[in-house]
Parts: sequence; C-alpha cells; structure tokens
Amino acid sequence: MPSSDTGTVHIIGAGLAGLAAAVRLSAHGRTVDVHEATGQAGGRCRSYYDHVTGMVIDNGTHLLLSGNHAALEYLQAIDAEHLLEGPPSAEFEFIDLANSQRWTVRFNDGQIPWWIFDKTRRVPQTRVRDYWPLIRLMWRSGDKPLSELMPCTGPLYERLVEPLFLAALNIEPLHGSGELAGTIIRETLALGGRACRPLIAPDGIGNAFVAPALRKLRERGIEVMLQRPLHALEFDDGRVSALDFGEERTALGEHDSVILAVPAYAAAAMVPELTVPSAFRSIVNAHFRIDPPAGFPRMIGAINSTSEWIFALPGRIAVTVSDAGELLEMPRADLAALIWREVASVTGLPGELPPWQIVRERRATFAATPEENAKRPGPVTQWRNLALAGDWTATGLPATIEGAVRSGHRAAELIERTRTWTRAA
Ligand SMILES: Cc1cc2nc3c(=O)[nH]c(=O)nc-3n(C[C@H](O)[C@H](O)[C@H](O)COP(=O)(O)OP(=O)(O)OC[C@H]3O[C@@H](n4cnc5c(N)ncnc54)[C@H](O)[C@@H]3O)c2cc1C
Repeated sequence: MPSSDTGTVHIIGAGLAGLAAAVRLSAHGRTVDVHEATGQAGGRCRSYYDHVTGMVIDNGTHLLLSGNHAALEYLQAIDAEHLLEGPPSAEFEFIDLANSQRWTVRFNDGQIPWWIFDKTRRVPQTRVRDYWPLIRLMWRSGDKPLSELMPCTGPLYERLVEPLFLAALNIEPLHGSGELAGTIIRETLALGGRACRPLIAPDGIGNAFVAPALRKLRERGIEVMLQRPLHALEFDDGRVSALDFGEERTALGEHDSVILAVPAYAAAAMVPELTVPSAFRSIVNAHFRIDPPAGFPRMIGAINSTSEWIFALPGRIAVTVSDAGELLEMPRADLAALIWREVASVTGLPGELPPWQIVRERRATFAATPEENAKRPGPVTQWRNLALAGDWTATGLPATIEGAVRSGHRAAELIERTRTWTRAA
C-alpha cells in the first residue's frame, strides 16, 4: 500500500500476533503491509486440508478459556466470536485410564470458589486444605519451578493441577515456571467459573482466527503478502532503514515502522544483541476421521495415558499430547495405533484404526521454565521504529493465543505512540 502521512507499518509474520496488530492498526486507519514467509497465514495456529484423511484439520486443537479477554476481543474485531464454542458453565470432565474412573470438576461462576468446599464439584479424594498451595501461587514473587512452590503429588496434583498446567504451559509442570502458573490462576481460576469456560473452534481454528482476519483486512484494502520471507533488517541512525526480502529491498521512509512478529529464533537472527528463549517444547496431535459417539463430551482430559485431551468434533476425533518430546521419534503408525487404542477404550468405539493423521510440532512453544521465561524481551527495542511481537515476548503469559494476541495489540499501541518510545530496560 502507498505510504501515508503517518507512514506505513510493516508487519513481518502473519501469525496471530502479526494479524492482531494488523487488525488493530488498520481499525485506527493506519496504513499496514503484512509480509508472511510461508504460503499460508496463521503460523502455529492454522487449519489445512489433509489428503490422507480427506479432512480439514488443525495443526493442533486449540483450547481457550473464557477469561482470555484479548483473544475474544480480537475475535469480536474480526466478527468471528460466534465461531468459538463452549459449555454454559466451567466444567471439565476427566478419566483415569489406569482404572476407568471418571470425574467432573465443576467451577462455580462467581469469584468465591465454593466449588472447593463442595465434594460433588471438587476433585475426588481431595480436601479443602489441599487447594491452599494453588491459591498461594498467585502471590509469589520471583520465579521458581513449580516443584519448589507446591506439592506435586497426590490426587489434586494428578487429577487437576498436572493436566491443567501441562496443557497451559506445555511443559511437565514440575519444571514449569511458578510465575506463569500463578498468572494462569490469577487470570482464570481466581476470577471464578465465568473466566474458566473451555472454548474451542469446532469448525477449525483457521476458520475462526485466521480467515475472518484476512477478510477484515481485505475489506480495509490490505492483502497479506504470502511467500515473502524477510531476510534481514537494515539499521541506520537508531532506526530500521530498509527491509531486505532477498531479491527485493524496501527502503523505509521517515515515518515508516516495523513490527517484527516472527518466532523467537527468527527474530534473534535479524535483531542484533536480542536475547530470546532458546529452548522449546513440542506438541503432538492425532486426528481420526470418525463420528464421535452421540452424547460423548466435547472434550475430556485423560490421565495415566499417552492421550491427554480428547476432543469430539464434527466427523472427527482429535487428541492432544503436550510436551511430547519422547513421542517425536516414535513411528507415526505405532503412535496412531497407541492413541487410538486409548480413544477406543474411552469412547467405546471399535478398536479398528480409522483414517488417521499425526501432526508433530517440534517447536510448538518456548519451554516455560523460569530460565526461559526470564529471557523474554519486551516489545521495545533500541531502534525507534521497531517493535517486537509474538507469544515468546514478555507478555507475562505462557505461549498461547491469548499471549500472542496481547503482544500484537501491545506492539500496535507502541507504534501508535512512537514518539514516546524509550529503550527497553
Ligand atoms: C500444536 C499446537 C497446539 C497449541 N495449542 C494451543 C492451545 O490449545 N491454546 C493456546 O492458547 N495456544 C496454543 N498453542 C500456541 C499458539 O498456537 C501460539 O502461541 C500462537 O499461535 C503464536 O502466534 P505468534 O503470532 O506469536 O507466532 P507464530 O504463529 O509462530 O507466527 C509467526 C509467523 O511469522 C512467520 N515468519 C517466520 N519467519 C519469517 C520471516 N523471515 N519473514 C516473514 N514471516 C516470517 C511464520 O511463518 C509465522 O506465520 C498451540 C501451538 C501449537 C503449535
């Protein structure tokens, strides 16, 4: 797009951080160019047609909570809020595959956690006082692994805390950052069930988070430029002076600015002296083309199994395994068969393996340890027209959609008040 009086904002990377920044800035009438390296927008949050199963699948079934206010605001801004679905109240069903025992944790709507005092709502075989260390996590200062901050054994840990934090932090919770776990509690459990309703996009995350954003941007005259990897940033006189796309170079005008919304390792390759998280954790998803049994819950958490969350979706069942490092080298067919055996035992479906696909995301998120969390930079850089965005920047949240969207909004706000920028601490 042509440069305007306030300059063009070049957004590098069309993941959710970049898209959220583009939607926010264009809503305020700013001129925006979005440059994406791959042939598809969405980054780590994408849907695509899988020829093996003949279905559109997500790279991973993304779970949000109703307290993820920035993600919901983003969906509202792109007219897509209705594409997320969840139960009317915050209920989580679980099954223990070691003994087939089932239970449901039912949070009450209000902020006072009555559910802890109610045996029919809290985790079976737990006492009220077991919950105290969880509550105390909110008020800790200084980051430490969770194992140093609360008991990591017993029914409460095994049946709620471990599955919850494993999903939210994407790391074995023993090693997970207590600070990030505390934020999760503060922003969800502590606000009551209204902030904890699980939300998913049954018709695909691409349909909910990406396609409507591209439509909204198009309405505003912005076309995301695909297959356009940025090779390097050029710097001069305390600012980014040009964008090097390999065969093409874009010189930046006096009022032009850049939001670098690429993954941590890509940002570190382009921005001198940038410290970023450098350890990552994987996520494995299995997809099966089969109709879930009638009445089967939309999602169920499993313990003592390889499968962690089983999602019943239209015409398919999807299974998520977080921090799945040990599964990365397992033959895909063996993994599909292992996971299907568990799904068949939970759902009562036949043991015969339906058409399947395994998606392994090796660098799904940065490793949410205290050490890696401490390496996350803020959005401000020493170059006055360059802001950083991405789930790996210092959002205070784990690497999630909510964190990515907040980082995009924050970078957009910085660009809007460019003159007040200061050097990052
Ligand atoms: C399998 C899986 C399951 C997940 N489950 C959940 C979940 O249940 N709930 C949840 O909240 N979060 C979940 N997440 C995390 C969530 O997907 C991410 O936090 C979020 O999508 C990150 O968005 P981002 O924009 O920060 O980064 P990215 O999505 O990585 O976007 C960066 C973009 O930059 C592009 N890029 C890279 N280099 C260049 C370059 N040189 N030039 C131009 N473009 C470039 C990339 O192609 C990409 O499109 C999951 C992630 C995965 C992988």
